[in-house]
Parts: sequence; structure tokens; C-alpha cells
Amino acid sequence: MTPTTARIKAVDTYDIRFPTSRELDGSDAMNPDPDYSAAYLILRTDAPEGPGRIEGHGFTFTIGRGNDVQVAAIEALRPHVIGRSVDELCADPGSLGRALVGDSQLRWLGPEKGVMHMAIGAVVNAVWDLAAKRAEKPLWKLLADADPEWLVAQIDFRYIADVLSPADALHLLRAGKQGAAEREAKLRETGYPGYTTSPGWLGYSDEKLTRLAQEAVADGFTQIKLKVGADLADDVRRMRTARAAVGPDIRIAIDANQRWNVGEAIEWTRALGDFDPYWIEEPTSPDDVLGHAAVREAVGPDIKVATGEHVQNRIIFKQLLQAGALDVLQIDAARVGGVGENLAILLLAAKFGVPVCPHAGGVGLCELVQHLSMFDYVALTGTTEDRVIEYVDHLHQHFTDPVVMRRGHYTAPTAPGFSATMHAESIAEFTYPDGRFWAADLAAQITEGAGA
Ligand SMILES: [Mg+2]
Repeated sequence: MTPTTARIKAVDTYDIRFPTSRELDGSDAMNPDPDYSAAYLILRTDAPEGPGRIEGHGFTFTIGRGNDVQVAAIEALRPHVIGRSVDELCADPGSLGRALVGDSQLRWLGPEKGVMHMAIGAVVNAVWDLAAKRAEKPLWKLLADADPEWLVAQIDFRYIADVLSPADALHLLRAGKQGAAEREAKLRETGYPGYTTSPGWLGYSDEKLTRLAQEAVADGFTQIKLKVGADLADDVRRMRTARAAVGPDIRIAIDANQRWNVGEAIEWTRALGDFDPYWIEEPTSPDDVLGHAAVREAVGPDIKVATGEHVQNRIIFKQLLQAGALDVLQIDAARVGGVGENLAILLLAAKFGVPVCPHAGGVGLCELVQHLSMFDYVALTGTTEDRVIEYVDHLHQHFTDPVVMRRGHYTAPTAPGFSATMHAESIAEFTYPDGRFWAADLAAQITEGAGA
């Protein structure tokens, strides 16, 4: 790409919220009324206006209240980014990641966990979006084409080097290059397998569950997922309903969203065993490494244990793998510190031979995480066996390059970038509380209140 003198001149932030709670979309045992939200940022440069001027877009996902706190955390990182050379940032996004994690005063709020770490992930991912757009490649392709030594340099091995050293990572990435061209061709042809959670939200009726489960199978999905954990009798009925709807050959995963203690998790999961659940997801606290190991010991190998969407960093993933606590590792594109940390987690999973089935859904999580799985397939593990990316059919219309599903598969993105860019009109409409939708909604509430 052509060198430039451009620098980052602004980090614009947006508190974007969608009123999903009104349809019970996204409802589960721990999150009964989520308003899917994005703490969103745009990196703007001082390059001359015109088609050559490129922005980096990034976000992290929240479920409503607190999205303003998340936006404030992103804004706290602004001084690290303003004035940086665009060329240098794109040539080495890992160096910015290390600078953000290394801000000692902000580090106190973590370290490397929670709101501050998610903010770092949003900013780092925006830089990767910028880098991929400048390289005129979708992110998965930029990663798959990259020199293994450069990729290794993008990863922070602190606290994981006892299990995954830079030399180990280099070895895995070099091995992953073998056959990459054939796999890339296959990926472009058939896509990457997905599974759908759309039928299984807790707030849906049995009729809606049946209809959506049958539609999923007709659409080519070979796995669906059901939310469980609020009421056992309901779960037995819903699981029976779902199994009847899809037949014996479709995998049904169940997801408790951290609802249980370890003992309850074991009992409840066993009680659903007659309906052949494929995995139990987030049976207990995402911090409870040994608890997950105990659940796996008790319900496996018939039922697999999956977790990761709330795992806060590579260090906890390292321990989950060391402890033999999971069968399925679920990365999330927007919870940890961005692409570099997710590369570390993919490499850890590859080293342990544990399949990665990413968490997605929410706002834009499908758009982001598909790039990481596609990279993993083309240039790291080289397989999609027992690997599926979660798919939820909400809110894709707000993105300029939405995911495209075909026969239950994610189609490989072709547009340059990380698929993170939201339409300007969507941002304008759903910015909280002053965007068109929320302003009208709040005004209506005031009118209703006055009439009552
Ligand atoms: Mg889940």
C-alpha cells in the first residue's frame, strides 16, 4: 500500500442501543430483557478528503444500561491513539494493544478484564479494521496471508508463555500455511459452517420454537441451540419439543448463561440427557475453571462442556485448557483485548486440540468473529470438523457488509476490513438517548405518563 503521512485525528464514540427487549429477542436465563447495544468508535484520520480516506470502525457489545460506561472507557483511551501515524499503527497493531494494556493507571481497573479490557478490544479491533481496509483485504485474508513471524509479533505472550511460547506459536502458524491455498478456495466456495440460536430464546412460545427450529433445518443448519436454566420442567418440555421438531440427526446445544452452581449444573444437565444435548454452554461462572472441570467430569463424554463468551482474557482460557475444563472453546470477538489476544486464544486451542466454536449474535458479533474462524481454518488448524460459528438473525441490516448465510454456512466476506462498519443512518437513528428512535420513544413515554 502507498505510504502516507496521515495521522489519527479523532476517536469519535457513539452509544448505540437497539430496543430488542420488546420482542424478547435474546432472552435467556440470566438476561431476560436485553437491549442489544454497541459502544462504537470511529478512528478518523487527517488524510485529505476523498475516496482514499479510510476510517477504522470498532465496537464492543453490551446489552443496554451501562453502554454509556463502556463508551466512557473507550474515551479514556483516546490520548493513546490521537496523533499516531496511520502507517505505523497498521504495520503493527500489536504495539498499540500493548500500550493500551500497559497504561498503568487504567490497568488498575482490570487488569485485562471487564469494561476497560473490552474498551481496549474495541479500539484495537478498529485499528485492525483500518489495517485491513488499507490492505484492501477482508481481515480473514489479511491474517491468512500474513507472515507467521509478523503474526507472532502481534501477540502478547505475557502470562501464557509457560504453555504457549512464541516458538510454539510460530511452529503452529508455519504448519498452518501448508495447504492454505486449497482451503482458501474451498472456503470461498462453500463458506464456514454455522449454527443458529434464533429458535431457542427463553421468551419464545413452543409454537415459535417449533416453527423456527424446522425453518433452521430447512435452511441447512445442522445444529441449533436452546436457552435453558430458568425452570427445569419448562426446559424438559422445550427440549422435547425441539428434539421432536428437528429429529435425531440435528445437534441441539443447550446454554445456561452461567445460571447454576456446579452441583445444579450437573443435575440439570443430566435431567435433559434423554434428549441428547450436544453441549452444555456456560453451566456456571465463567471464572470458575475448576467448576467447569467438575461439570465436564460429571456429564462427559456424552455431553460436551462449552464456554468462553464471558471469559475475560487469554489467561483464563489457558487455565480452562490446562484443567481439561472444556470440550468446546467459544471465543468472542469483542470481549477480550482485540484480534491479537484472540490470535493467542486460537493458538492455545490449536495447541490443545480443542475445537473453537465462536460466540456470536448480539450486534455485529457475527460480522466480526467470522473473520477469526476463517483465518483459523485457512491458515492455522486447517479444519472445520466439529467447528461451527454461532449465528443469530438479528440486526445485520445495520452493517454495510452484513454476514451472508448460505445453506447454513457463513459466506467468506470479500469487502476490505473487519465487517465492523455500521450504516451512518443506523447510528443516527439508534444513538441513545438523542437519536431519532430514542428521542421519539422517550417523548412518547413522557406523554403517556402525563395522560395516566
Ligand atoms: Mg451463550
